[in-house]
Amino acid sequence: MIRTYGCQMNEHDSERISGLLEADGMSRVDDVADADVVVLNTCCIRENADNKLYGALGHLKTLKDANPGLQIAVAGCLAQKDRDLITERARHVDVVFGTHNVHRAVELLDHAAQNGPIVEILEAAVRDDADTFPSALPTRREVDHSAWVTIQIGCDNTCAFCIVPSVRGPEISRPFGDLVAEIEALAADGVSEITLLGQNVNSYGRDLTLTRRAAPPEADDRHWCGPGWVADRRARPLFADLLRAAGAVEGIHQVRFTSPHPKDMRSDVFEAMAATPEACEHLHFPLQSGSDTVLAAMHRGYTGDRYLEKLREARATIPGLSVTTDIIVGFPGETDDDFERTLEVAAEARFDAAFTFIFSPRPGTEAAAMTDRFVDHDVAVDRYERLRVVIERSSRAANERRVGEIEEVTVEGPSKKNPRVLTGRTRRNTLVHFPAPSPIRAGTYVRVEITDARVNHLLGSFIEVTRAARHRTRIPVTAG
Ligand code: SF4
Repeated sequence: MIRTYGCQMNEHDSERISGLLEADGMSRVDDVADADVVVLNTCCIRENADNKLYGALGHLKTLKDANPGLQIAVAGCLAQKDRDLITERARHVDVVFGTHNVHRAVELLDHAAQNGPIVEILEAAVRDDADTFPSALPTRREVDHSAWVTIQIGCDNTCAFCIVPSVRGPEISRPFGDLVAEIEALAADGVSEITLLGQNVNSYGRDLTLTRRAAPPEADDRHWCGPGWVADRRARPLFADLLRAAGAVEGIHQVRFTSPHPKDMRSDVFEAMAATPEACEHLHFPLQSGSDTVLAAMHRGYTGDRYLEKLREARATIPGLSVTTDIIVGFPGETDDDFERTLEVAAEARFDAAFTFIFSPRPGTEAAAMTDRFVDHDVAVDRYERLRVVIERSSRAANERRVGEIEEVTVEGPSKKNPRVLTGRTRRNTLVHFPAPSPIRAGTYVRVEITDARVNHLLGSFIEVTRAARHRTRIPVTAG
């Protein structure tokens, strides 16, 4: 059994761990009491990550006391960061491994079964080691029709509130040719939607082109940097090229990505989105703050005006674009004036939706040490509420503008509240609920008329199926 506490990168790592364990002959169980192996895949970006981990480990101790054969592994960012502390506080843990050696999960569990508890943390990923990248491993996808594709790991930025650079290391991009081959393999397996995944996706390939440019042209430049790069051999990101190449793979119907960084966003990405019919009209564009002072303290590398300028360009280039964001309120040193500027920028940006957070210090980050500038909690809560009102106003207005439109929707399954109602996701990444004339498989594309709008979702009326869910091809193998 694998429990994931974290971001999409962690969820994707969990799919890989699951794939490795299944390839080793294990099968998944739904009840922890039936498990022989439990992997807790942790994330230190989320609030109270350590409390949640130690709470879960406490519960598992009772199970292990009753069943000493149970193996417990802790993986992910928190394992990378706290390593020995975990085995000190929870002596019943068998394996601790980090973000750079997911591919070693099976060997480490075997080693622990023979020799006792083991901690193995690699400080950094190895650029040429294909196993380091989660997507290069066997996988057990949670959903048949959609898949994540990790295009890079690590991050070269230094956002003051973020622990990622210290636990995931510097940015390393996967070779262009490997990514296209993986997307082709996914499409052959019935996947029609992919999400390109990375900490800073739009800088994808910058490191590859810098390395290859310094060397004489070689036959495998196309493999590392793609056919589009061979003609100019300039040091540049390759994300726009990758978007086009992903959309061109036969069988891929929708391409999404997360997350880009506003500082590194260039016109060529917007142009590639507009020119690639498979690229969905959705941009998650993390603002974090509207105040130039706070943005500088966060080391974000843009101002509120520059952010809005890029947003205007995105909307002018990509018709029907929806934009979502992340905003932190109460960052250390944020004044009333700083917060007012965040409200102004948020109102002008007219977000379709936003993930808003009250600043909470993550141990090990620069911002966690700014204790003398922490904002009073009640002040932060008040600001959070005021921001929520602004975001809800723009979300509702954006959704209401869509009433009467006909949109393509990917069916995700029956609604949780009413099995006769289906839930799906529009290309603009909004949930829509609509009554179904008959059961429709997840992964089917349908046309839906939007009939009503709420703050966080749409209601619709089914029109027709436009593309059936693709069946996965399985070749039976028998041992003789
Ligand atoms: S861009 Fe900033 S917030 Fe995003 S992963 Fe890198 S350091 Fe963290």
